[in-house]
Amino acid sequence: MQHRVVVVGAGFGGLEVVKALAGAPVGITLIDRRNHHLFQPLLYQVATASLATSEIAWPIRSVVRDRPEVTTVLANVTGVDAARRHVLLQDGKTVPYDTLVLATGARHAYFGHDEWEPFALGLKTLEDATTIRRRILMAFEQAERETDPTRQAALLTFVIVGAGPTGVEMAGTIAELARDTLRREFRNIDTARARVVLIEAGPRVLAGFPDDLSDYALRSLRKLGVEVELGRAVSDCTADSVAYGDVRLATRTIIWAAGVRASPAAEWLDAPADRAGRLEVMPDLTVTGHPDIFAIGDVVTVVGPTGKPVPGIAPAAKQEGKHVAGIIKARMGGKTEPMPFRYRHQGSLAQIGKRRAVIDFGRIKLRGALAWWLWGAAHIYFLIGSRARLSVAINWLWIHARNQRSARLITQGEAADLSLGKEAEPPAPGRIS
Ligand SMILES: Cc1cc2nc3c(=O)[nH]c(=O)nc-3n(C[C@H](O)[C@H](O)[C@H](O)COP(=O)(O)OP(=O)(O)OC[C@H]3O[C@@H](n4cnc5c(N)ncnc54)[C@H](O)[C@@H]3O)c2cc1C
Repeated sequence: MQHRVVVVGAGFGGLEVVKALAGAPVGITLIDRRNHHLFQPLLYQVATASLATSEIAWPIRSVVRDRPEVTTVLANVTGVDAARRHVLLQDGKTVPYDTLVLATGARHAYFGHDEWEPFALGLKTLEDATTIRRRILMAFEQAERETDPTRQAALLTFVIVGAGPTGVEMAGTIAELARDTLRREFRNIDTARARVVLIEAGPRVLAGFPDDLSDYALRSLRKLGVEVELGRAVSDCTADSVAYGDVRLATRTIIWAAGVRASPAAEWLDAPADRAGRLEVMPDLTVTGHPDIFAIGDVVTVVGPTGKPVPGIAPAAKQEGKHVAGIIKARMGGKTEPMPFRYRHQGSLAQIGKRRAVIDFGRIKLRGALAWWLWGAAHIYFLIGSRARLSVAINWLWIHARNQRSARLITQGEAADLSLGKEAEPPAPGRIS
């Protein structure tokens, strides 16, 4: 019987395993609980109305259409029976495997304060992005009709928690949305007076970048009008405020860009994990005690050649995926010697706003307009298919030239108010609002 490889998760890591196994004498089952592969690095652009959802996500079936040996299963995995070599699905069915690859990624985490989740919106899925987009656009709509100045100020205050690349990118783009895109369209409010507040517990923004690039990012954010609050951790989030240090700030929009928690693969296998739930794997990326189970991407913690942990970024997940496919192919060819994974860091990129980005290639460091063009070219290159590449390039050029953001659609409801929970409900049939 043909060797059965089951890959759980069609994100960056899982898809790379499938891609790199092309031509190998194996049958592949690719399981994901969503029907699409998502390009998470540009999720914030959907959340800030710059791109449409279909520009950064692709049906998994279409991605593997030309690979007859790959079967796609849309299902939620809830466990692994390692003794029987079966993956357990939520609907009670099971999928047998000879080799299993777990690539289920991570989700945002609230440092033990899960009660903040309904108020501080995380960004991980397309639904998260369209919910944030809706919240931001609704805040401007509500502020336009609000007569009480205190409530209006709270509606026009946007708080982002965490100044890593996602937080910085969100803050810069919301500031541009308010100052450039929306300014001429409202009559009762000056959208340019909206406050965008970026709160970071650490001493600097973009802590993973060298000091000079981090300083440039801070200056650029301030030029865009973003208020950057460093060195103070958030201590509370509610429906209408955020607390940090000794400040409580009234706001109706909090975006959470701090902290991640791995998907529960370690629990499925009762295997060792770090504090963020990431599986601790062997140097060849197999799970300890399970030579037939690999784990890759954001769901694992791996130490790189310098002794530092491999970062939770797309290139790392892809390199790990390629490595695992190489081991599977070697094993199929009768080679069984261990093949330790070695991570090669290709660089770090972050966009701050129009014509402002930072790139750290190690010896080469770039900032400003050149970095922004390179950032754009790199992201367009990694999108799937020419249609998405062309469409994203045109959208960016349009934003660049005209400040217009075409994806400014409020979906998931009618003119419902901003009360939490209510906004997520679909409109009742026949409701007149
Ligand atoms: C907002 C944001 C911005 C980012 N920006 C960048 C960036 O600029 N550059 C960069 O390099 N990296 C960036 N990253 C990180 C990068 O996206 C991740 O490191 C990368 O996606 C990890 O790949 P993965 O394959 O491990 O997981 P993912 O790509 O997250 O894929 C996991 C897959 O598993 C599926 N899955 C999860 N649980 C189950 C289950 N129980 N059953 C079935 N399927 C399941 C999910 O649906 C998903 O398709 C960003 C991440 C986010 C959230």
